Amino acid sequence: MKKLYFITGSQDLYGAETLRQAAADAKEIAEYLSGQLPCSVEWQPVVTTHAEAEAVCTGANADRDCIGVIMWMHTFSPAKMWISALKSLRKPMLHLHTQYHDKLPYDTIDMDFMNLNQSAHGDREFGFICTRLGIQREIAAGYYKSGKTLAQLRRFAEVCSAIDYSRGLRVAMFGNNMRDVAVTDGDRVESEIHFGWNVNYYGIGALTEIKAALSDAEIDEKMAEYTGKYTMATDNLAAVREQAATEAALDRFLASEQIHAFTDTFQDLYGLKQLPGLAAQNLMAKGFGFGPEGDYKTAALCAVLNKLAEHRQGATGFTEDYTYDLTEDSELELASHMLEVSPVFAAGKPEIQVHPLSIGGREDPARLVFDGISGQGIQVSLVDLGDRFRLICAEIELIRQPEPMPKLPVARLMWRLKPDFSTGAAAWIYAGGAHHAVVSTALNADDIRLFAKLTDTELVVIDSKTDLNTLQQQLALLDLKARLGR
Ligand code: MN
Repeated sequence: MKKLYFITGSQDLYGAETLRQAAADAKEIAEYLSGQLPCSVEWQPVVTTHAEAEAVCTGANADRDCIGVIMWMHTFSPAKMWISALKSLRKPMLHLHTQYHDKLPYDTIDMDFMNLNQSAHGDREFGFICTRLGIQREIAAGYYKSGKTLAQLRRFAEVCSAIDYSRGLRVAMFGNNMRDVAVTDGDRVESEIHFGWNVNYYGIGALTEIKAALSDAEIDEKMAEYTGKYTMATDNLAAVREQAATEAALDRFLASEQIHAFTDTFQDLYGLKQLPGLAAQNLMAKGFGFGPEGDYKTAALCAVLNKLAEHRQGATGFTEDYTYDLTEDSELELASHMLEVSPVFAAGKPEIQVHPLSIGGREDPARLVFDGISGQGIQVSLVDLGDRFRLICAEIELIRQPEPMPKLPVARLMWRLKPDFSTGAAAWIYAGGAHHAVVSTALNADDIRLFAKLTDTELVVIDSKTDLNTLQQQLALLDLKARLGR
């Protein structure tokens, strides 16, 4: 089971009784947090020396189940003893600035109490050395049982879990990047160095070979899954069966290669009768990352953000900026794709429909068609700027489409941009945000801020406070920072 280490700092000046009490208090806090967070919290022996600090940090690095560390200086802990340990620490850190008690015991407080409960003092010393070393970490300040502190710890645990998942994520590209498209392309080696994504090309033949060997029973089973989940709004069952076979083949392929995100492209479908529509949509709803036109970055980000949202209510999936309603002062965005929008966004029961696809030169593909949900959300894009990656996160308000669209044969989402259409859209374009993105109603900008911070990824947030002049200054400073290096 994945876990966070709970590491308590002290020193050997206080005597055995204080250290015994520090250990007991820390153990109690770790056990309490274990019951509150989506992963376990494992108490570690109190650190009092250079050697112990180094041992616990190298232990965290080596423990494959340890996804992050929580640090707390219950007493004073001279921070030079943490330098070499922190320099080697490779797991995400949350510095918990808390106390064992909340209210001061005014009538009994004495110097023994002060010496034991001095995180106000010790956590500042520890914080200084983290800042001096340039360590990106989260700081949660407050009583550890308070709702606000626990929410911050929960978010940290979820982001650690997503980062751990990201570090082992394997991505398959069926075909390559759509010819001549810039923003979907990227440096796959750097993606693995930075995010841990192992991205590899596969010929579409790797899939069609498995597909040809499927039994009728396997395809029947997938058809039964479709009819159980969706409304069959077509007589062309042969077309739906074609998607069922493609998905059954993908199931086998992804499982055998331990792959959790994939891309395809309509320009390379040799041996497939249809572009995967329903097949890709149904897989996305299970948490698999997907990116069309060879967009491996969006596919991987989609899988990682699904992992980050796994304990939340709400929907997370791929979509694309498509067209607008530009009625002045009530502008709306319509997001969709040629087929592949995740059914997690469906406001009602999705319909399986079969329609022609004007590009790609294949048979009419089956796809899920639905109207999108409403609610507050974010749109997140990842781009490769050549010398670094940039995440762009825009807050959006998803809305029910104002009127039916009876002729539109694809799933769609609609939303309002923040702070207003012209500012939000211009900000996105200034920042270099892609037309492919992951949309989520389960996550918010603070989740992406923490993910970006702990993965040392550049981030631009667009929200109700965005001002284009300030944003352009921010972008200029980010370019300068990147040029200066670290
Ligand atoms: Mn696209």
